[in-house]
Amino acid sequence: MPEPLPVPELLALDRAHVWHPYGPMPGRAEPLVVESASGVRLRLAEPVHGQRELIDGMASWWSAIHGYNHPVLNAAARDQLERMSHVMFGGLTHEPAVRLAARLVEITPEPLRHVFLSDSGSVAVEVAVKMCLQYWRSAGRPAKRRLLTWRGGYHGDTWQPMAVCDPDGGMHRLWSGALPRQIFADAPPAAYEESYAEHLRELVARHADELAAVIVEPVAQGAGGMRFHSPGYLRVLREACDAHGVLLVFDEIATGFGRTGTLFAADRAGVSPDVMCLGKALTGGYLSMAATLCTAEIADGISRGEVPVLAHGPTFMANPLAAAVAGASVDLLLAGDWAREVERLESGLRKGLAAAEGARGVAEVRVLGGIGVVELDHEVDMASATRAAVRAGVWLRPFRNLVYVMPPYVMDDADLAQVCEGVLAAAEAG
Ligand SMILES: *Cc1c(COP(=O)(O)O)cnc(C)c1O
Repeated sequence: MPEPLPVPELLALDRAHVWHPYGPMPGRAEPLVVESASGVRLRLAEPVHGQRELIDGMASWWSAIHGYNHPVLNAAARDQLERMSHVMFGGLTHEPAVRLAARLVEITPEPLRHVFLSDSGSVAVEVAVKMCLQYWRSAGRPAKRRLLTWRGGYHGDTWQPMAVCDPDGGMHRLWSGALPRQIFADAPPAAYEESYAEHLRELVARHADELAAVIVEPVAQGAGGMRFHSPGYLRVLREACDAHGVLLVFDEIATGFGRTGTLFAADRAGVSPDVMCLGKALTGGYLSMAATLCTAEIADGISRGEVPVLAHGPTFMANPLAAAVAGASVDLLLAGDWAREVERLESGLRKGLAAAEGARGVAEVRVLGGIGVVELDHEVDMASATRAAVRAGVWLRPFRNLVYVMPPYVMDDADLAQVCEGVLAAAEAG
């Protein structure tokens, strides 16, 4: 092991050389240096605003549902590391991937049968889109290659996903003309409205000849605006897609594995998609891995086509280390009472965030499952909001006009109450 870098030197090198998400170069804001993490706490390399440890309200962007440094996941990683951390997946296979795929088929909605394991959520969405386009090409309908989604969505940062992210909040303006032009419905209202259902039906019907698929985040939209909507709209989409020969893709990369209160958000509507994307919490936040699941009909269609293979194969496909940890994470989730834990988070968030309701600068407070959102009526001042949260001993990462949390499921009531205090402090300061 090399000697640890002194913090000032580490930060200087970081600033000089290292990109951060959506950051400029050199970096403007100074990131906090994390030395280690355990349970629901991040340990900083040195105290910041008097805090050496922060309670993590973000679960590292939806992923660390069991908390950090979990003995069961550590053991799975260590055990697999001693066998092999990676082998190519072309012409070879291995138990961690096979077990994981079979497990995912078992727990996801019934018609999903086949699993493509890739290395990140954005790639899982790319694969989903490729599956849909290739399905229609194989069926002799190559004109069906556009996508329909609703505004306010987020599906990742690579090319196809960017094209279905919210056109105002996303990168569309920067890339207009370069991105494929997709079809956008209005953002889904929170409650069920027949006029909005009709809007969805009308768009699917009007564009059916050119539509390969409808792709949406079911029930909760994440990084596009942290908005929730009635599951009834998913049934409307399923019916419209079936009526007009359009595939339905659910991007459950954020909502999967219990976050909204059901194991998958699709379960809340009783609707099965043709394709489903999973990621984020798949490995319990340990390693980068994602999955794209599809029905037998799609797989058969592709495999009977002019190019009778799914033409995709990343170098690190089905990485054994990630697959082993993912398998352990899913087992750990299902062995515990995740539904009660998420319910407990939901009531703790409702109670803890209630004080923001009607406060100055607050537009709306909303909670669903293990997701809590304080929407401000103005763009958040990141620096002061972050400072206020850190002073309260909490790690948050607000964006746009949103201060939000999705804590690890294992967070106890006292820590959750403190996280809510942090959100209130950040919302007030930001
Ligand atoms: C995070 C996210 C993605 C992208 O996943 P990455 O692993 O960041 O590439 C796609 N869709 C949704 C709904 C997400 O929340």
